[in-house]
Amino acid sequence: MTLRTCLTLAALLLAPCAGAADTAFVWPHGARAAVSLAYDDALDSQLDYAIPTLDKYGLKGSFYLQLSNPAVAQRMADWRRAAASGHELGNHSLFHQCSRKAPGHDWVQPQRDLDTTTAAQMQDQVRLGNTMLHAIDGRRERTYTVPCGDVLAAGVDYLPGLRDAFVGIKVSGAAVTPSMTALDRYAVGVAAPEGLSGAQLIALVQQAAAQGTMVNFTFHGVGGDYLTTSAQAHEELVRYLADNRRLYWTDTFLNIMTYVKKQRGDH
Ligand SMILES: [Zn+2]
Repeated sequence: MTLRTCLTLAALLLAPCAGAADTAFVWPHGARAAVSLAYDDALDSQLDYAIPTLDKYGLKGSFYLQLSNPAVAQRMADWRRAAASGHELGNHSLFHQCSRKAPGHDWVQPQRDLDTTTAAQMQDQVRLGNTMLHAIDGRRERTYTVPCGDVLAAGVDYLPGLRDAFVGIKVSGAAVTPSMTALDRYAVGVAAPEGLSGAQLIALVQQAAAQGTMVNFTFHGVGGDYLTTSAQAHEELVRYLADNRRLYWTDTFLNIMTYVKKQRGDH
């Protein structure tokens, strides 16, 4: 049902038209869902396996660099080449601060403990991260993925002070976005799959198509490193998306969020 038809019916029935806005949200070229393939932490396996696979099938992904990771300095030319070919280099903070007191976070180094880092310090560092990324890829617009999904810096949410620095921000949550019209671009849910099969990953994509929304994957290792997705499962997903380009708009998270912003008329 079109928005116009819906509004007319709603006026006749003197009743609100539930869901009208969501059915009015359209993706480019009639696609049924948007797909963001993202990769956190700047890992070697992303350069060695994920990017070659994306390039083989002609799809673009978003790579969120933890800028203090030695892999950024050691393979700067590779990251720069990835950006030049259309992949997004996203911000994943300088030092990947997470809450050390959170369950299972014993690995967080004391000097990188978000519980003892102030919101102002985090904001300063994340903004500096944008400057460093600009020096690598020359771009001004960018998105951010919150390390570990932890947003409280010494007890204060540090994200509101960064809204002007990003087109979109991802926090933890579900892979499939429930509603495009209700979506907060500064608190987009994302899932970090580990060990899923190609079929399981594709099922999530199909779920997004059924809802007409989008699916956000944040991978870590691909065919290596940690929180690993096998190279085979990753390629099965990428091949499926490439084979079904008319149904799925796979692009960088920056391009998807820029489209959402424009389509909704966000300020
Ligand atoms: Zn991370």
